[in-house]
Amino acid sequence: MKKHLLPALPYDYAALEPHIDARTMALHHDKHHASYVAKLNTALEKLPELQDHPAAWLLQNLDKLPVAVRTEVRNNAGGHVNHSLYWRCMSPGGGKAPGGLLADAIKRDFGGFAQFQMRFEEAGAKVFGSGWVWLARAQQDGGKLEVYTTSGHDNPLMQGHFPLLVNDVWEHAYYLKYANRRADFLKGWWAVANWEEAARRFEQSDQSAEQAWEDEGRVVLTA
Ligand code: MN
Repeated sequence: MKKHLLPALPYDYAALEPHIDARTMALHHDKHHASYVAKLNTALEKLPELQDHPAAWLLQNLDKLPVAVRTEVRNNAGGHVNHSLYWRCMSPGGGKAPGGLLADAIKRDFGGFAQFQMRFEEAGAKVFGSGWVWLARAQQDGGKLEVYTTSGHDNPLMQGHFPLLVNDVWEHAYYLKYANRRADFLKGWWAVANWEEAARRFEQSDQSAEQAWEDEGRVVLTA
């Protein structure tokens, strides 16, 4: 069967130190993300007709899946898609302010970069239990930028919003360094936020949602 693959981290485990420690990165990628990929493959083992689809497609088409595997696929395809994107939303050379058209859109929709950061941090701190905080673009609302949160491994694409930047607020993302201080993690995370990736995704989001996600599906590899 075709299998979903764990993508390599685009940098070393220690590359985001001191903001995110190497041990957290190693556990997060090699254990947590790897387990979502393995469980997704297990869930699809007996469903060859679903094995050619990118994980993002599975998330967007849960209603086409057999009910018996729907929750398992939602959790683990979501875990795979979200983490694959998350690694790329951080960079050792990150932390700069966004530029170009994305900077203009942030100013238009939030009033400024500092206001956006405050909204993102507040929303991330308020997520109850395990989830994610996103900067995403609404496809159906003139492309307006918005801060969204999701529970579990849900992704804004499930509501038709195109994600530009994401932070993981599951405890496993920060507990070793920040203990219970999620708000400090959210504040420290700006130092590694990859605005070049967000700007690239902003341009990608000008296509139809369907095309953008087809492109996205090619990034999360299957073999
Ligand atoms: Mn995670």
